[in-house]
Parts: sequence; C-alpha cells; structure tokens
Amino acid sequence: MIKIIRTSPPHQFDSEKVKRLTQEYINTKRNVWNLEYIKSALLDMSNSKCIFCECKLGEESKYIEVEHFHPKSLYPEEVLSWTNLLPICKRCNGLKRDHDTKINPIINPTVDEPKDHLFIKDYRYRGLNDIGKRTIKVLQLNDSDRLVLPRFKIGDAIAAAIESLVKVKDKINMDTKVEDENELIGKLRNLLVSCQPDSEYSTVCSYALLTDENYFEVKDYLVSQGLWDLELERLETVSLQHSLIREKIT
Ligand SMILES: [Zn+2]
Repeated sequence: MIKIIRTSPPHQFDSEKVKRLTQEYINTKRNVWNLEYIKSALLDMSNSKCIFCECKLGEESKYIEVEHFHPKSLYPEEVLSWTNLLPICKRCNGLKRDHDTKINPIINPTVDEPKDHLFIKDYRYRGLNDIGKRTIKVLQLNDSDRLVLPRFKIGDAIAAAIESLVKVKDKINMDTKVEDENELIGKLRNLLVSCQPDSEYSTVCSYALLTDENYFEVKDYLVSQGLWDLELERLETVSLQHSLIREKIT
C-alpha cells in the first residue's frame, strides 16, 4: 500500500449533477456511481492499481470497482463525493463491505501515509498502531493464498535476479567489462522500475530488493566504478519513499 495523491475530480462532476444523482441514490438506491469517467479518473489517480492491495486493475479478472471509503449504505450523502471514491479490486471490495470507517477508521491512502501505520516484514504486513492493525484485519492483507504466496513468488524472483547480477559482477574481467557493466546497469534499473509507485505490488518489490544484501553489493560495485548515475539514484530514492521497510538498510 502506498500514499496516493488525490487528483482533481473529473470535469463532468459539476455540483448540480452531483446533487441530482446523490438525491436519486437516496430516493431509489440506484447505482449512480458506476460511470466510465469516474472509473477512468480513479484509475489515473492510482496508476491503475487497487488502492489497498496494489494489484493491477483492468487486467485478467481484476476489474475496477468504485469504492466508497465511507460506505454509501451508512453515509448516502457521500455517494458521489469525489474524496470518498477510491479504485479497488473485487477482493478488497468484498471484504470491506459496510465497515464503518468513521467509527473504526482504517487507512485511506489518499489521506493517510500508509507507512505511519504499517510496515512489511517476511512478506506480511504488520500494524504499527490500531489503525494499521485494523486495516490488515478488515482487508485481510495477509491472506495466505491470495496475497502472501504471490508476494513470496515476486520476492523470490527478485532475489534470483539480483543474485544472478552478483555473479555477473564477480565474473567481470577486462575483456567483458563494458558489456557486463552495461548488463548490470540495465538489469538493476529494471528491478528498480518494478519498485516504482506505478508498478504492480511496488511495496513488495521494494521490500524484496532493498533489503537484499546482494543489491548493495551490485550498487557498491557500480558506485566504485563511477557508474551509479542520477537515474539509478532517483529510482532508488523514489522506491524508498514509498516503501514500508522498517529495518535499517545499508
Ligand atoms: Zn485489492
């Protein structure tokens, strides 16, 4: 889970229309929020990811559902309040249901900074406080089959990739120096790209990569050769900003 900057409402959201549709919902309970321009604005806001579990929406069977952070059943007047709408996957939506977020708050990533409430260890989310713990519970963020095992697989793939880069680094000799170093830079850059906020499960990818000592071995080599450039530095900084890593890294 990462912090999301709330974008402006879609231009179709004029106050007259919002008022009229909200009243229509209150009177008829009709679905007034399932509009293409709402979905597309929400997808743009979250880089097409579920705001809670970070799965990519619009792929495979993961369709976007428009989530009302404060449930519409309890707070019908907020059914079309732009700041109350979030992009979410079917799994998370099915779990959150009518949980009363005003009485028992959970993290809203467009308002709260997730790392103030959560950290990640051994591919499981841990709560730093009541809000963090409740968020994990309500959304079942440590569901073994659906979330933790896929996280392990991603972590294992990243560990294998960075291990193979250490082998490339160890084998560098004068004849192959340029090509091997270019391979190190290119592949390390790709790994860091998977940790950026627009990548699926970026929290998990940055945890896997930036807590692996092999990453620092390759980085130290590139630094020593004057090859650690501004782009790599920027990618690493952004990854760390969005990460939920708590243990000290070198
Ligand atoms: Zn989700």
